[in-house]
Amino acid sequence: MASEKKTQNYGKDLEDLAKKMGHDVPEFKFNPPLENAPVTQISQILTGWGNRIKDTFNMVEPKVKVLSEARLKVCDVCPIRRGNKCAPNLQIQHHITGNLVNGCGCNISAKTLSPSSHCPAGKW
Ligand code: SF4
Repeated sequence: MASEKKTQNYGKDLEDLAKKMGHDVPEFKFNPPLENAPVTQISQILTGWGNRIKDTFNMVEPKVKVLSEARLKVCDVCPIRRGNKCAPNLQIQHHITGNLVNGCGCNISAKTLSPSSHCPAGKW
């Protein structure tokens, strides 16, 4: 099976790109650290941030935008949302299993724009 050698700092590249485009990039940390993330998770993060940037130009696919808005309504009332972040230091009961899980640490507005991403609590 092919594997990717993770020598690239994707988070920094995206942050630099967003700043070049005039976006204010808030401080956040991935949990677990992005360097340890599986390739599929990196792909989801890149998709989410790519769509987040596209969204500022109204260039997101309509069905992805509808999906994101539905997810954001769920996150809006979630007790472990802190600002625009799913707080990794807080726990919530998983919607399906009932197990306690931590927040993912993701930027919510970007994650909700990544169609293959999931809420760590199984809410979407
Ligand atoms: S992704 Fe899930 S756990 Fe995180 S803030 Fe949204 S609803 Fe809550």
